[in-house]
Amino acid sequence: MSEKIQRVKGVNDILPVEASRWQYLETVVSQVMARFAYGEIRPPIFEKTELFARSVGEDTDIVSKEMYSFQDMSGTSLTLRPELTAGVVRSYIQNNLQQISPVQKLWYEGPMFRQERPQKGRYRQFWQLGAEAIGSPNPEQDVEIIALFHAILQELGIADSVSLKINSVGDSESRQSYRTALQDFLRPHLNELSETSQHRFETNPLRILDSKAPNDREIIKDAPKIRDCLNASSVDHYEQVLQMLTEMNIPFVQDDLLVRGLDYYTHTIFEFTSDALGAQDAICGGGRYNDLVKELGGNDVPAIGWASGIERLLLVVDALKPAESSSTMDLFLVVQAEELRAHAPGIIQKWRMAGLRCDFDTLKRSMKAQLREANRQRARFAAILGNDEYSQGVVQLKNFETGEQSAIAFDRVVETINNYR
Ligand code: ATP
Ligand code: MG
Repeated sequence: MSEKIQRVKGVNDILPVEASRWQYLETVVSQVMARFAYGEIRPPIFEKTELFARSVGEDTDIVSKEMYSFQDMSGTSLTLRPELTAGVVRSYIQNNLQQISPVQKLWYEGPMFRQERPQKGRYRQFWQLGAEAIGSPNPEQDVEIIALFHAILQELGIADSVSLKINSVGDSESRQSYRTALQDFLRPHLNELSETSQHRFETNPLRILDSKAPNDREIIKDAPKIRDCLNASSVDHYEQVLQMLTEMNIPFVQDDLLVRGLDYYTHTIFEFTSDALGAQDAICGGGRYNDLVKELGGNDVPAIGWASGIERLLLVVDALKPAESSSTMDLFLVVQAEELRAHAPGIIQKWRMAGLRCDFDTLKRSMKAQLREANRQRARFAAILGNDEYSQGVVQLKNFETGEQSAIAFDRVVETINNYR
C-alpha cells in the first residue's frame, strides 16, 4: 500500500456533518448583513506581500512571523491573506468604490492563513467573517458596526455568553502624546521587560500593553492610561460611542489596557470575548482605522471594521446548544427486483427535480441493506419498488415515523410527501 498523505499541521477538514453547522451560521450571517445594508465582497486569497507589510505593520506578530509568503514565477513576493481588511481597502481604492456612494458597507467571509502554533481555537488556516464601513468618521458608524456583530450573536443565541470590551486609542495626536508618556513610564523598567517588548519600546510601544509575558504584565499594570492622553475631540468621539451603546442596551466594559495587534487602529477599538472558550477566548476584534485608506494610496477616507473567527464562534454555539439531529432526507428509493435497478436513476431524478431530498442505492445491495441505509440517512419515507408495483405504476410508500405503508402512484409521490411537511 502507498503511504497515506496527511493534512498540513494546523489546518482542518470541514466534513459534511460539520458543514451543515457552517451553513446554518452562514445563513444567519447573510440575513443579518442584508438587514444592516452591508454588501458582500470577495477579494482574492493572495495579495502582494507589501500590502500587508504596509497596512498591518512590519512590527506586528502577523507580519513579522506569521505570514505564508512565497515568490511566484515572476519573482513577485505574494502572501496568503492573514486578514482581510487590507485586501478590502486595496479593492475599495482600486475599484473606486467611493464613487458609488460616500459610505461603503462591506462584509466578507473566507479562509485566512497565519503560521502560528496550532491549538484549540487557533489554526493555520482559519475562517473569518468580517465587516468594514468605509467613509464615515462619526460615532454613529462605530456603534452601528458594533451593533451588527451584536445582532449576529443574538440571532445565533449566544449574545449572553459573550462580552464586549472597548477602548479608545484616539487620533494620531493623542497616540503620539501617549506614546511619549508610556515610554517615559517604561524607560526605568526597560531592562526588566521581555525581549520582544524591549524591541517594541522604540518601534511600537503601545503593543507592549498587549504583552502576555507575566513580568511585562506586572509592570504594565501601573502604566499611564491612554484615556488620560486623549485630546478633546478624541474624548468626545469615544464618549458619544459609549453613550449610544448604552442607549441601545448593548452591554460593554471599558478596558484601559486593550490595544489590538494591528498597527492601523485609531479611536474606537473593541473585542468580543466568550467565557465558553478557554485560552483563545477572543471571537471578534475590530476598530476604527482612519488613516489606512490614505496610507494605501487612496483618499483621506475614515473607516471602521471588525473580524470574527468562525471556528471560535461555532465552538461557542456548540458549547451552548448541542446540534439538533433533524432529518435532512425526505425519501429513500428501495428497489426490490434486480431487473428494476436500471429504472431507479430516472425515477429519482424526477423526484429530485420536483424538490424532494432523496437518495437511492448504487451498490446493488439487498433490500434489507437498502432499508438500513435509508435508516442511517434518517429518511422520513422509503419508496419500495417491486415488480408488481412497477407494473401498476405505484410504489409502496412507508412512513418511518408512523410505520404506515400504502401504495401511491408514481406521479402522486411528491404531493403525498409534501403534504406531510
Ligand atoms: P488572538 O489574540 O486570539 O491571536 P488576534 O488579535 O490575532 O487574536 P485578529 O487578527 O483581530 O485576532 O482576528 C480577529 C479574530 O479572528 C480573532 O478574534 C479570532 O476570533 C480569530 N482568529 C485570529 N487568529 C486565529 C487563528 N489562528 N485561528 C482561529 N481563529 C483566529
Ligand atoms: Mg493573533
